[in-house]
Amino acid sequence: MRTEIVPVKEALKLPQGSPVAVRGWVYRRRDLKKKAFVVVRDSTGIMQAVFGEDSRALSEARKVTVESSVVVEGIVRDDPRAPGGKEIVGTGIEIIGLAENFPIRRDASREFLLDVRHLAVRSRRLTSIFKVRDTAFQAVHEFFRSRGFYEVHCPMFITAAVEGGATLFEVKYVDGRKVYLTQSSQFYLESLIFSLEKVYTVAPSFRAEKSRTRRHLTEFWHAEAEAAWAHLGDMMKIEEELIAHITRRVLEKRREELELLGRDIEALKRVEPPFPRISYDEALSILEDKGVHVEWGEDLGADEERVLTQEFDKPFFLYGFPEKAKAFYHKNDPKRPEVTLSADLLAPEGYGEIIGGGERIEDKDELIAKIKKFGLNPEDYQWYIDLRRYGTVPHAGFGLGMDRLVMWLTGIDHIVDAIPFPRTVNRVYP
Ligand code: ATP
Ligand code: MG
Repeated sequence: MRTEIVPVKEALKLPQGSPVAVRGWVYRRRDLKKKAFVVVRDSTGIMQAVFGEDSRALSEARKVTVESSVVVEGIVRDDPRAPGGKEIVGTGIEIIGLAENFPIRRDASREFLLDVRHLAVRSRRLTSIFKVRDTAFQAVHEFFRSRGFYEVHCPMFITAAVEGGATLFEVKYVDGRKVYLTQSSQFYLESLIFSLEKVYTVAPSFRAEKSRTRRHLTEFWHAEAEAAWAHLGDMMKIEEELIAHITRRVLEKRREELELLGRDIEALKRVEPPFPRISYDEALSILEDKGVHVEWGEDLGADEERVLTQEFDKPFFLYGFPEKAKAFYHKNDPKRPEVTLSADLLAPEGYGEIIGGGERIEDKDELIAKIKKFGLNPEDYQWYIDLRRYGTVPHAGFGLGMDRLVMWLTGIDHIVDAIPFPRTVNRVYP
């Protein structure tokens, strides 16, 4: 090969007549009597090469199988019928790795695709989703850094539940002790605000979710932030600006991928602050009007959230959840003690909760009382209570489920496709 290898995306910009070489994997091959079409994909796109009778490479081109790795050389030609409007008139093809019969067919079931996920991740659909995911993660870091938050890292092995015992994963530690996988980094972030004031982390959280839903993984990526001196309203503002920033970045950088996924672009363009804010009580009355009864005090599930999302065309906040619907660390509203100073952010179009957050209890006695009220043992939360002994301050924070965010941004119907190797109730392989 004499021509310099360029990414497919670059090759598709070259003028007709340019010599070109690309490398990648065979996306499909079609044989005609006198010619063969080989479509090659690389990380940047797909491009067709055509090998005619006059090409010495025709017989070699007829040997390649789907997913073989190849280097293709030739001359660029404009052709409106080719993907991207150009093709390569092939003069040479080098087979690097000849693929065996690829097991994935067009009509493969979702379950089968998950069984061979290590191969399925090559699809254009998943590749597009993962590019959106990459942009979303990058945007999270950009946003927090631009707001003066320090990035920190917290342990995954912990000794007490953050979000309730029912979803804890137990692990046998080196010395035989029982420890758990973290459900959230929140408590550790809280301890770091006493020096760094504003902190964030992007890390996995683990929850043994027993029910099969479209929006629960057992291992998910959590972007969490915590800030000293912040109240609920301050955090809600940060949350809406964060979500707007991520969405703008995705629209800027990933338009092509969104279009390939069939995403409604207009819906994403509406994601600009301020987001509507409705109280839990208002939500119950909206639901009541729609024939959905929720007993005051109960948490809202995916079904109720879906009904509420029909009322809004951009993300919206639900605030003021009852005490018993939220974890013990949420601060109760001094003006109305039966509700907490908490807020969830719900994505529209049926998606529902992507962020949970609020103000934390800063008073030691109040925290101990609430731990007991929730039937938990203050002994298990010694160090967390300690934080309230030495210079306690009002503070608030939130957790954003990155996989749920990606699910909504890409408009897909199941969370498993928002992450390369999903972990769910019944799946830990491959
Ligand atoms: P849900 O009621 O949907 O289970 P939650 O109230 O348990 O959510 P939080 O504890 O507030 O969620 O966690 C913060 C965020 O983390 C959620 O808003 C969501 O985006 C994400 N999240 C929580 N559990 C999961 C999970 N099992 N899989 C994926 N994301 C999750
Ligand atoms: Mg949950």
